[in-house]
Amino acid sequence: MNHCTPRMLGPVTLILLTAAGVARAQAPFVLGGVTAAPGTLASGDLKVPGGAGDEGTVIPFTVIHGSRPGPVLALIAGTHGVEYPPVLALQRLKTSVEPRTLTGTVVLIHVANMPSFLARTIYYGPKDGQNLNRVFPGKRDGTLSERIAFVLTSEVIDRATHVIDVHCGDGNEWLRPYSYWVVTSAPAVVAASKDLALAFGLDHIVIDTERPNDPAASVYLANTAMTRGKPALTVESGGWSRTDEESITRVERGVAGVLKHLGMRADGPAPVAHPVWLGRNEVLRSAFTGLLYPMVEPGQTVAQGTLVARVTDFHGKVLEDIRSPFAGEVLYVVATPPIAKGEPVGFVAERAAAVPEIKK
Ligand SMILES: [Zn+2]
Repeated sequence: MNHCTPRMLGPVTLILLTAAGVARAQAPFVLGGVTAAPGTLASGDLKVPGGAGDEGTVIPFTVIHGSRPGPVLALIAGTHGVEYPPVLALQRLKTSVEPRTLTGTVVLIHVANMPSFLARTIYYGPKDGQNLNRVFPGKRDGTLSERIAFVLTSEVIDRATHVIDVHCGDGNEWLRPYSYWVVTSAPAVVAASKDLALAFGLDHIVIDTERPNDPAASVYLANTAMTRGKPALTVESGGWSRTDEESITRVERGVAGVLKHLGMRADGPAPVAHPVWLGRNEVLRSAFTGLLYPMVEPGQTVAQGTLVARVTDFHGKVLEDIRSPFAGEVLYVVATPPIAKGEPVGFVAERAAAVPEIKK
């Protein structure tokens, strides 16, 4: 029993309640030299300093700073260069999330990887040939990709309480929406990240058991947050260089679900009730360089041995038939002709026999 009737509130209690109210006043939020007062929004650019062979770059951001203190939710778009629905969704969120009625703070990273975005390069940065989402937590004096990762880690992830890395299929990838739930971090972080995945609402969730748990070698953006004790999520919505409305609004809806789940906004969509949990999963890769012919579509169910893609040489000779190693569902398939040895051709995943039980 823990009832507390008004007549039980003595003068001391009232003073304590008042003091608690004062203590919870929201302080300004400063990022990249820009200050957002409580209940306002501020935008600016994080500076990535130059290094050998480049002049550095900028990372445009917006801070939507609520009137009351609460979670600091970082949403990061454009980690890869040709992933547009996340970038466009964050442009909309800038105007649709109202700071005066928000509890906590939303940090929008509009284009994380500006060199790749402007050069329209898939997977790799144009200056260093590195995949930004494989070099975290980054290095202060490293390559351009490593310096971008360092700024994102130290300025954004370290300041956030929750992080969502918003992706879609890159320019060559045809994809059905899904999210990754990483289960290799501390149990409380894993449990809270599962709740984030449910709140974001995508109905296919890959249970990821292969992320490193060393914060000094976290490799992936979302994993950088998790190895630092912060719940995080990677989501995928859209792909193939498209800017379709459905993929953009799916991200907006997902963020609205997370804002409600975290108590940052009163209203929002309910969590996904019965997601498809995916266990065993594999990125299928080409052993050859040549022309790629996809043979499946995203969302398609495949049997063990189903032909996923064919690779030919530049004279039409078949080099390789790539088949699914197990029965499952296609989450993405590479749907443009260029393929280089070792690169992905598709991603298949099998329904999980059981969802891991995590003690909070
Ligand atoms: Zn991506």
